[in-house]
Amino acid sequence: RLKRVGCTEWGLHALPMEAEPVLLVKRFLPFYNHLLLVKWPFIIGVVCGLIYAVASGAGLPLMIDIVFPILFGEEGKELEGVSLWVRQQLGGIEHWKLLVYTCAWIPGVFIVRAGAGFFNNLLIQYCGLRVLGEIRVDMFSKLQNLPMVFYHRNRSGDLLSRLLADTQALATVLVNTSSDLIKQPVTLLAAMGILGWKAMTADGFFVALISIFTVPLCVLVIRKAGRRLSAKAKLLQRETGTLTASLTESLQSALEIRAYNLEKVQTHSFRERIISIIRLNFKVLKYRLVISPSIEVVGATGFAVALFMGVRNGMDWDGFLVLGTALFMSYEPIKKLGAVYAQFSQGGASLERMEHILNQPDGMPEPDSPVILGTPKRAIRYEELSFAYDDELVLKGVNIEIEVGQVVALIGPSGAGKSTFANLLPRFYDPNEGRITIDGIDLREMSKRSLREQIAVVSQMPSLFSGSVAQNIRLGKLNATQEEIEEAARRAHADGFIRQLPNGYETEVGEKGDQLSGGQRQRIAIARAFLRDAPLLILDEATSALDAESEAAVQLALADLVKGRTTFIIAHRFSTITIADRILVFQQGSVVADGTHNDLRDSNPIYKAMAAGHVM
Ligand code: ATP
Repeated sequence: RLKRVGCTEWGLHALPMEAEPVLLVKRFLPFYNHLLLVKWPFIIGVVCGLIYAVASGAGLPLMIDIVFPILFGEEGKELEGVSLWVRQQLGGIEHWKLLVYTCAWIPGVFIVRAGAGFFNNLLIQYCGLRVLGEIRVDMFSKLQNLPMVFYHRNRSGDLLSRLLADTQALATVLVNTSSDLIKQPVTLLAAMGILGWKAMTADGFFVALISIFTVPLCVLVIRKAGRRLSAKAKLLQRETGTLTASLTESLQSALEIRAYNLEKVQTHSFRERIISIIRLNFKVLKYRLVISPSIEVVGATGFAVALFMGVRNGMDWDGFLVLGTALFMSYEPIKKLGAVYAQFSQGGASLERMEHILNQPDGMPEPDSPVILGTPKRAIRYEELSFAYDDELVLKGVNIEIEVGQVVALIGPSGAGKSTFANLLPRFYDPNEGRITIDGIDLREMSKRSLREQIAVVSQMPSLFSGSVAQNIRLGKLNATQEEIEEAARRAHADGFIRQLPNGYETEVGEKGDQLSGGQRQRIAIARAFLRDAPLLILDEATSALDAESEAAVQLALADLVKGRTTFIIAHRFSTITIADRILVFQQGSVVADGTHNDLRDSNPIYKAMAAGHVM
């Protein structure tokens, strides 16, 4: 299995994108490791590419140069060079046989060329797909482990674009450039070697060196265009991210868009974004395409200067031929390397956006020697705990001790900090000050996995994943049997409605579980929690009203679920609080009252308001 590498391991993440070409290429190096995964298809693909090149470049020209003179040679006219050698090898072959060989040679060359071209394309594309897959899995796996704060700070559509569009761009760069990065510098060095050698050995060839001075000029052109390209590509990828984000939001808000007649406004803003993307794409295209012709012009000028100086210094036709060929051979690789650099500059923008995820530090790392949490025995304590999502404290100096087995209702006005208080227990966030302990152990000293294994969460709007109802319940315990799933569903008062679904437990739930009502979704989540059978429970009651039948079923299910478990219920209705032993009243980030029903019945206005039927 290929070792996973990220840029951080190479210590390269701090390099700016506008850095020197060599440094820019270095940033991509860790990703080339993915090509090791497809080493053989890649090597064979490159060899096929070489065969294709030879067949295209040499197959027919050789024919024209060598065999045609023999075939069409006039009687008595002297053959020379390779043609003469071939003629001698063929001996006294009859003319008609020579004609057959020649005619067979033509489709032969094209068959080799076609086959090699096909396999070159197929294998290189295959490598691209595999590398792309590998990079995407790396990024996805990183995303799975990032803390919740990261998700609050990044739009999901933009992350989607980084995971799909940017990885695609990077994989294309890796595969397209990999063979050129080996082939072109070698060709360039060889051609420069010939130029240098000729310059030293033959008269008049010192002028060839003049042309070498045009090389830095080419590099200058490449760098200048590359920088612009990189800047525009960055804008383009960012804009693509924003487009995907707004597209995702718009698809998720289909109901609101119709309810508020926003169709035209949405289409208009989508069109604006598309236009801006076209504009940026055009600029990227412009800078990418300007490189090759510019190098050609610089190269032609260099060639003209060399020719002028050469002829003035007595260079002959043969000398000129060698010079011309060597010059052509040096400009070709420079041109190709220019194109490679353009690809890197463009891909660099995507790389940077991917590194935003790949190099994201884990804000909540595992401790060096994590304590494995077993079933809590004594108490959960919040000690002098303060927490802020951004700058403003959402919880302020909270001190609470909850004994194991207690069912605690968290009540208070919206935004008071109830959900935040509960979400700190599974370590979705770490406190800014103070600490939370279970049986005296700080959560930050525990293995996150073992902590979360002890907790079941039923959220307000439980997420259902695409798959069957049974699969969704099974998420509570991945190795649960069908009997266990059905038992959990029965206890969650969900068995009845599940059996009435078209395919019972095997009914597919659509995206976000759309064809189920809020109450049904919550009962599936409760079934999940039953199956998980965790000693700690966090229940976030749905604020939206459920239909009466569903609400009654949910209440019964919850009352059963909390038995024997240490539970936080974020309650919005009085009926839910009734199953609690203890009530914490939150207001503006502080716990302002703490007691049993008897303690709060007469003294606490928020409790009284809920008892009078108000929904908080
Ligand atoms: P509700 O009953 O409406 O769910 P709550 O009492 O559970 O409210 P919290 O969700 O804990 O309140 O929110 C407490 C405060 O933290 C609010 O002011 C809210 O705006 C803020 N807040 C909540 N989530 C975030 C977040 N992801 N980023 C920034 N601020 C947040």
